[in-house]
Amino acid sequence: MDNARENIEPIVVTTYNCAICKQGFPTIESAVMCAKAHRKPLKIVGVEYAKKCAYPDTLVVQHSSGITVRYTRSEQIVVLLNKEEKLNK
Ligand SMILES: [Zn+2]
Repeated sequence: MDNARENIEPIVVTTYNCAICKQGFPTIESAVMCAKAHRKPLKIVGVEYAKKCAYPDTLVVQHSSGITVRYTRSEQIVVLLNKEEKLNK
């Protein structure tokens, strides 16, 4: 029991994180492949508002792949990125 600490050796593990999603990989090649697999949003091509809501609850986004994806908020959670902005609803 006294020499329990003497038998413990540190193990250094190198991981490479995807620049987009931060997932860890054992090789830089696999991290680069992950980053290349992510489709980048290019522009918002549509918005939809619920009645009397200040902010849209649906966005339609065109991506670098040419695919357009519709995102709909499932919960009424709003994060204020600009603290000076006042949220009406
Ligand atoms: Zn990734």
